[in-house]
Amino acid sequence: MKNIFPGALSVCLSAILILAGGCGQAGIREFTKTDTAMGTVVRISVYSAGEDPTGETLSLIRRLEEETLSYRLDTSEVFRINESAGDPEGIPLSDTMYRTLAACQKLTEDSGGAFDVTLGALTRLWDIDQWAAGLRTGSFQIPEEEDIREALSRTGADRLSLEAVSHGGAAYLEEGTALDLGAVGKGLALDETAGYLEQQGDITAAAVSVGGSVLTYGEKPDKSPWRIGIADPDDPSRTIGVLTLRGQWCISTSGDYQRYVEVDGVRCHHILDPATGYPAKSGVRSVTVVSAQGMLSDALSTACFVLGAEKGMELAAEYGAEALFVTDSGAVVMTPGMEEWFQETESENTEE
Ligand code: ADP
Ligand code: MG
Repeated sequence: MKNIFPGALSVCLSAILILAGGCGQAGIREFTKTDTAMGTVVRISVYSAGEDPTGETLSLIRRLEEETLSYRLDTSEVFRINESAGDPEGIPLSDTMYRTLAACQKLTEDSGGAFDVTLGALTRLWDIDQWAAGLRTGSFQIPEEEDIREALSRTGADRLSLEAVSHGGAAYLEEGTALDLGAVGKGLALDETAGYLEQQGDITAAAVSVGGSVLTYGEKPDKSPWRIGIADPDDPSRTIGVLTLRGQWCISTSGDYQRYVEVDGVRCHHILDPATGYPAKSGVRSVTVVSAQGMLSDALSTACFVLGAEKGMELAAEYGAEALFVTDSGAVVMTPGMEEWFQETESENTEE
């Protein structure tokens, strides 16, 4: 009998935005909002000379979830695509969805299949996100081997075909196959947010985090840089170090401590290896990726988690992104570009 013990469920944030430094310029005010969207915590902090834009920012993230990305809500485009599985006519796609799926398919190819948005049948079989969020009751069971094999037989990039048409495109999904854009959703939310902030003439700086993905934008009134804490996988309330960056970046972390269920002392986390059908075991506890684009930082952090440090660093380099890995032994390894930004937490700060 496999039971979940009290306290074994956990949904944690991985990238911790350290907000310090108040307003220094006349007329510029800081507006903040913390709420939930996309099944996680959203933190918005904006420096603006105008009206409070945080409500609109939150609404646009929620709209993206409801209208485009959710595979649970029947109002979303992903839901409709999944409903169309098996239809030889396929389904028309919005421009955003076409570009997203095309980019995902390229990443599937470049990662040797480690990253795969056609994994829906498998992610639903495990359903770790729902268990970890406490949205399912009863006792979690590791799926049967044959059920895992059956779900895997319904996944794979060859089961999704895309076709470009003048506006957007079309998708053909094989019978039984389902998309899960969980690995890119938060990054896409950051890209939408960045687009919105750019349109507002009076916003000079902002930091927005959606779960483990953070957008930094502009420069704070006091000219201090952005500081992003990297969580300690053993104790996510602490940091192992800080990234210090200036200007516009997207920083995403994927870790085995973010969403998981523990069964008889075995941690079942939410990043699955398409090669085995089980939670990925690649020698790393967490991966943080920095990219100019949120969709990429998010997708790459998941892909690099599955690939492990060595192959993950090669993949990040191919995409012009920087990556940092916390390995199973607690070592921190990173791409050369990341070293410019990373500073380890001094040991006296991690004591007590
Ligand atoms: P989070 O959503 O917690 O920020 P990630 O960005 O790493 O974490 O995405 C993990 C989510 O992506 C899972 O919850 C699942 O929906 C989906 N997923 C799991 N494994 C893979 C994979 N190998 N490739 C693509 N998506 C995956
Ligand atoms: Mg991701």
